[in-house]
Amino acid sequence: MKILVVNAGSSSLKYQLFDMDSGEVLAKGLCERIGIDGVVTHKRPGKENYKAQADLPDHKASIELVLKLLTDSELGVISNVDEIGAVGHRVAHGGEKLRKSTIIGDDEIEYLESIVEINPLHGPPAISGIKACKSVMPNVKHVGVFDTSYYSTMEEKAYIYPIPYELYEKYKIRRYGFHGTSHRFVCAKAMEMLGKKDARIITCHLGNGSSITASIGGKAVDTSMGFTPQEGVPMGTRSGTVDPTIVTYIMKKEGLSPDEMEKLLNSKSGLIGVSGVSSDCRDVLEAQNAGDKRSKLAMDILIHYIKKIIGSYIAEMNGLDALVFTAGIGENDGAVRDMICKDLSYLGIEIDNDINLKLPRGTQAEITKAGARVRTFSIPTNEEYMIALDTYELVK
Ligand code: AMP
Repeated sequence: MKILVVNAGSSSLKYQLFDMDSGEVLAKGLCERIGIDGVVTHKRPGKENYKAQADLPDHKASIELVLKLLTDSELGVISNVDEIGAVGHRVAHGGEKLRKSTIIGDDEIEYLESIVEINPLHGPPAISGIKACKSVMPNVKHVGVFDTSYYSTMEEKAYIYPIPYELYEKYKIRRYGFHGTSHRFVCAKAMEMLGKKDARIITCHLGNGSSITASIGGKAVDTSMGFTPQEGVPMGTRSGTVDPTIVTYIMKKEGLSPDEMEKLLNSKSGLIGVSGVSSDCRDVLEAQNAGDKRSKLAMDILIHYIKKIIGSYIAEMNGLDALVFTAGIGENDGAVRDMICKDLSYLGIEIDNDINLKLPRGTQAEITKAGARVRTFSIPTNEEYMIALDTYELVK
């Protein structure tokens, strides 16, 4: 069966077509600048990429173009749209109700619309993408795979915030967690490599957005992102966790509205906020190596927070079998992995830099130092494959 995976953003739509019999990606690409001056990029393994301007007023026009490219006599990889057995949609937020990957009908769309208030950035484009795909491909099943659903196994003590309980009941303010599909994928890979069913694993998804998750036996017990992706470790442009009183203090002092304050914490903080150089970890590291003090400080803060969370999750799980790094920084940057793992030997974490620092980018590998109690891995994430797999399992 062939499964199309769709990830709709506010002005973009990413796609990948999987052949589930071989596990191969037949084609993938991206429609960007939707509603502006559309551009499409279409890639097929081993063939030249196709990139062109396109008239893309909305998600519907984008998915129509994707189907046209997939079935094109020259650029296509299938002869007919009917070859697509199902569509898997990446949805960041499934709220409290959509706790596992689900076939999307009218009730599910209605529920997703009802939680847009707590997911204002990612909710509307995801819903628009699903609606567009359903209207263009009405004869196949559409499956929603939710980043939050991996966290449905967390206990109340991990997801209820210590604020008046009525606010949870009234507004559903709780820890939801994000990047769950990525954590689920790399955690399953690590469990395979460990060969241990009840393994205690910490997965560090470190990219432009970063989160850290603790899992026992492939079930999440805690995660660093919270009610929104804003909580946790510092990120490219997000602050991560700060003393909540700082928020109201800055608002009063600077005369900022709630929206302006959110923007400050979401888009002007983290690596860019402290370094003043860039939100991209590579640029900040380069500036640090060239002697820029604030870039060094930004990296030091990042590493400091990541270590604190790793330590706290080991305490929470009363031990650790494996530590996993993934995503843009985690799976590519041996220097950052080294900075994080340095001086964690008390906790059993020690890595072999002869392997770690020489690891080709994006390689799956074990980087544990011989004799260390905890095993450490670098595992490239593959959220799209996980979405395709869930979709396949549900519809086959
Ligand atoms: P993501 O959000 O997973 O795409 O990750 C984006 C982040 O990964 C950015 O901060 C990049 O600087 C970082 N990144 C991507 N590739 C590399 C690399 N080869 N080495 C170091 N960092 C990288």
